Amino acid sequence: MALRQLFLFGAAPLLAAIGFALAQRGPSSTNLAAAAETTTSYVSPHEKLSAVNDGYEPRGSWDRGPAAYGNWPRTGTQWVEYRWPKPIATNRIEVYWFDDRGGVRLPASCRLLAWIDGEWRPVPGAESVGVLGDRFNVVEFSEIRTDRLRLEFRSSGEASTGILEWRVLDSGNSPNFAPKVEAGPERTVVLGGRTYLTPKVLDDGKPSGRLSVRWEKASGPGKATFASETKADTSATLDRPGVYLLRLTADDGEERAADTVRVHVVPAPTGPWLERPRAAGWSVGGPFWGPRYRAILTRWLPYLIEKYNDPKLPEGGIRNFEEVGKKLRGQPHEPHMGPPFADAFIYDALESLCLALLLDPKGDPEIRAAQRLFRRTIEDWIPKILSAQSPDGYIQNFETNSGSPRWSNVHNHEAFNLGHLIEAAMAHFEATGRKDRRLLDAAIRAADCWDRNIGPAPKRHFHVEHQCLEQALIRLGRLVDELKGPGQGRRYRQLALYFLDERGGGSEYDQSHLPVRKQYEAVGHAVRAVYQYQGMVEAFQDARDVDLLSAALSLEDSIVHRKYYLTGGIGSGETSEGFGADYSLPNNSYCESCAGCGQLFFEYALLRTTGEARHADLFEETLMNNVLGAIDLAGENYTYTNALDSSHGRYKWHACPCCVGNVPRTLLQLPQWAYAKAPDGLFVNLYFEGSADLGQVAGVRTRVTQKTDYPWKGSVKLTLEPERAVRLVLRLREPNRQTSALYRNQPEVAGLGPIRVNGQAVRTKAAKGYRVLERVWRKGDTVEFTVPLRPQRVSCDPRVKANVGRVALRYGPLVYNFESVDQALDRPLSPTAPIEAVWTPELLGGIVTLRTRFADGSPAVAVPNYARLNRGGRSVVWMPAP
Ligand SMILES: [Zn+2]
Repeated sequence: MALRQLFLFGAAPLLAAIGFALAQRGPSSTNLAAAAETTTSYVSPHEKLSAVNDGYEPRGSWDRGPAAYGNWPRTGTQWVEYRWPKPIATNRIEVYWFDDRGGVRLPASCRLLAWIDGEWRPVPGAESVGVLGDRFNVVEFSEIRTDRLRLEFRSSGEASTGILEWRVLDSGNSPNFAPKVEAGPERTVVLGGRTYLTPKVLDDGKPSGRLSVRWEKASGPGKATFASETKADTSATLDRPGVYLLRLTADDGEERAADTVRVHVVPAPTGPWLERPRAAGWSVGGPFWGPRYRAILTRWLPYLIEKYNDPKLPEGGIRNFEEVGKKLRGQPHEPHMGPPFADAFIYDALESLCLALLLDPKGDPEIRAAQRLFRRTIEDWIPKILSAQSPDGYIQNFETNSGSPRWSNVHNHEAFNLGHLIEAAMAHFEATGRKDRRLLDAAIRAADCWDRNIGPAPKRHFHVEHQCLEQALIRLGRLVDELKGPGQGRRYRQLALYFLDERGGGSEYDQSHLPVRKQYEAVGHAVRAVYQYQGMVEAFQDARDVDLLSAALSLEDSIVHRKYYLTGGIGSGETSEGFGADYSLPNNSYCESCAGCGQLFFEYALLRTTGEARHADLFEETLMNNVLGAIDLAGENYTYTNALDSSHGRYKWHACPCCVGNVPRTLLQLPQWAYAKAPDGLFVNLYFEGSADLGQVAGVRTRVTQKTDYPWKGSVKLTLEPERAVRLVLRLREPNRQTSALYRNQPEVAGLGPIRVNGQAVRTKAAKGYRVLERVWRKGDTVEFTVPLRPQRVSCDPRVKANVGRVALRYGPLVYNFESVDQALDRPLSPTAPIEAVWTPELLGGIVTLRTRFADGSPAVAVPNYARLNRGGRSVVWMPAP
């Protein structure tokens, strides 16, 4: 029997799938599932119930397509139900079961029930629905009329069950249902670029099988021009900044449905792009950062060295390079240990060691001893790494050791490893004052090997499964341009663009579901996502392709205003290590430490592109809550995940030690995050006690020193030391704590206090979130000001169900936690009791505690999120409040 399924416009793979479905089935019947609302006994948080009637044509029971329904870890009898607004008539269903060969397997049995006369009744002829894999299980029966159908299925043994697609076919006597339209996610578009429209349109094919669609501007300040007004998949350009609503209407001849997409049009950044400073000889101190850096340098990094030097480390250490070196020299060797991506762990640790050498020990004997250890380790590791590089430049321990073919298994993270090698190599080059090129030359040879082999046909196609190489190649390209002459680094940047361009047609998990320029919603694995988004911003700077920046800004909005934790963490973990749906932010959050690092990198790239302080407002939060809290105060334990309600202490190690080197290498770039250079001067983004030689600023070598106890106290004294008098623009960030539309802080605290230069009050301008001071600066000139700091109560958008009836506290950039070691946590806080910030030197190495009262009048105390769970017990950000 030939059938017609439904019409679906949207992602390219879906269109392809439906094209196939139409060819197979012909025009005579109608799938009513498209018009149904779905419910179920249970759906796993990482799966989607909407998958059962999304019209996808699976290629096998393994093929999740854009999404799948599964009920792992539940077993036994489960059900999925369709409900229609009007009764339907059907005589046939088709069910495609999901089998992931793991927790979800084919069911043992299934039957179809219908809601008839107020009760569920088995449908005669459909008491036994087929449970075969890799096909639609078709059941035909005598026509029934009902407004509800339920598939009831029983699992087999210990496995759970799932469905890829469930069709309900019209027997010819069903009413016509209106189409369903989802116009698409909210997005930003940079003026001069286009926004890509990839809506989802579903219809039952009635009455005529013809469905027409039309795009139009519903509102907005300028003109909207569509590439096609009558095709669902199209693009639009908008000619003035502002907020637009674009409406898509679908009409089946009798019934219509419409939906709108919100588009923010922003002016194009004009450059010049801000430059990362190469901070040499920098110091850090004061009661906040001083102890943190000391713990990382004297405890955490020596511990990493000990771990990675252990030849028995199951995750694989430096030994993997030594064994490949032996193989390449023709000597007997042992097999690879740990996952294929273990190389990156060494590169991250090596980068951390290089960055740690740039820190001035200020006479601290323990830090000096640690730095001697770092130097010895770097000198020990680099020859071992070089020995594992094949003569043609290829370097990847797993493939070279095992003899597995190169570039044949994307899950082996070859691109991920190369990205981290390039970053470590650039850090080593800078740490040696640009003198030692051994590792950098090895990274360039490796990148050359990829460039010779990978790329547009006739080269080999390669899909980057874990992003990060893209931005590393672009930055390498810029460095090569600088070292070897303009244009010499172009091929690395082109390779990066190729990797971005080949995404699309894959899965949301690794952000290959759509071409990158059409990605407006943050989905999938959070670390991969933000590394990719950073790469898109870097690629925009390079190629000036505004569609890349439009997508990146849209993705930032999607994260910050709909998927962002108060601590600056990202990734609810409801999808595999990734993002959940909008406003779904459970407090047993995943918030991987590496995702926090990546979010910081992404925001910093946006700051360098737009010059807008709001990006620094955001990465300061992520840095000082999420990333800083990943390692304990002693520098001895760390955590992979950073839940906002947790009773899990940190631990020594993890079977996937990706974060152990990523967190210190992120923290050790503090001067980079704190400053950015423009041709006309300097941006000061973060306030911290310390000093840094920033190299040339407006053409003159300049050192900057900050004296401050921020974030404990707000007063900051900044001293500029240009080698000679220079006219430059100094931009001081005015912190704005209102970073995300999800959260509201009371009372409002923002801006900077009065500014004095060399003790004299000065008038300043404000621009893009900075105070702007343009003048001739001489060595020793000082700038003094106060960053206002007051305790704030934070309330959350009620669409975030986890935080309804709850309140959080913050002080400056720091979010606070209540801990069970200090008080019972099952009581509500008083909504009106004053909150006092109290310097508490005896607690947690010296912190500002926030002190308030519970509703019952008893005292309540909160500690900063980064210092949480250093004393056991439970730690909670969001507290009940009456
Ligand atoms: Zn990690």
